[in-house]
Amino acid sequence: DERILSVEDLHVTFSTYGGTVQAVRGVNFELYKGETLAIVGESGCGKSVTSNAIMGLIQQPPGKISSKGVHFKYQDLTKLSKKEMRKIQGVDISMIFQDPMTALNPTLTIGEQLTEGVKQHKNLSKSEAKQRAIDMLHLVGIPNPDERLKQYPHQFSGGMRQRIVIAIALICEPELLIADEPTTALDVTIQAQILELFDEIQAKTGVSIILITHDLGVVAKIADRIAVMYAGKVIETGDKREIFYNPQHPYTQGLLNSVPRLDLAGGELKPIDGTPPDLFAPPEGCPFAARCPFAMDVCTNVYPEKTALSDTHNVDCWLQDPRAQKLIEERAFAQ
Ligand code: SF4
Ligand code: MG
Repeated sequence: DERILSVEDLHVTFSTYGGTVQAVRGVNFELYKGETLAIVGESGCGKSVTSNAIMGLIQQPPGKISSKGVHFKYQDLTKLSKKEMRKIQGVDISMIFQDPMTALNPTLTIGEQLTEGVKQHKNLSKSEAKQRAIDMLHLVGIPNPDERLKQYPHQFSGGMRQRIVIAIALICEPELLIADEPTTALDVTIQAQILELFDEIQAKTGVSIILITHDLGVVAKIADRIAVMYAGKVIETGDKREIFYNPQHPYTQGLLNSVPRLDLAGGELKPIDGTPPDLFAPPEGCPFAARCPFAMDVCTNVYPEKTALSDTHNVDCWLQDPRAQKLIEERAFAQ
């Protein structure tokens, strides 16, 4: 499979009056052409910060990013200037946010907003750009696109506006689309339609998608692979079946316990007993230890590095780590 994106050891901190928050603490993942990777976790786990860091949307300072690289195709995004990054934003990588209203400019017609970027970046004439805008509205299922181009955002329903936002995000034919809670503001019926739209568009265009969400129902519908984040780390990754039917991290298991069945929509993540650790002073060992029913001594002292369970399934947990027994014995011997 062709690799589109590879994020290596990404760290993001924010300095505040209260100290430094370690929001993202060594995140690694890869994304392949034409797949949808869902990044899942409770609010504050670092999933949005991760995607914003990839997109160059973290203000520095107060933010600070370090990594071994964020490789998008043949370039390291962390090595690009702001100007070079702007050439990629919205063209090669597009982003969709939660609220479709703030993503659209109320004073410009839909047609103006659709053609703005594509004229500039793809060097199209006015009539070519208009034709592309019509094609895009077709693609996202908006009837009478010719007429609709002349209208303003307030003349569309919430679901239609989110379709338009998706059309704008895709009009330059990006290879990567990052969608941060793209359906959270929509009601359940519209939400299902938008998720179907993502699937259709991916089948037609081959775009790779990173979907940031706290909603396991959304994940069940459209993810190919899943990365579960907790306290600024990716603690488990796997394909959809591995995560839903064979979760190995106690945190992932806890999340899934709150969703009775995979085929039920609207499976909101219910927090597990206890709270995530303070990211001003994150623990040295496993960040889930304080809430984990299986926690051992070693868990609080040493971080469980990644253990591979299959080609696609990885987990950061001592329960799965073949070195655990040895380490536990050594520590017992040293005491
Ligand atoms: Fe629980 Fe230990 Fe695994 Fe962390 S490493 S999830 S504390 S068993
Ligand atoms: Mg978020």
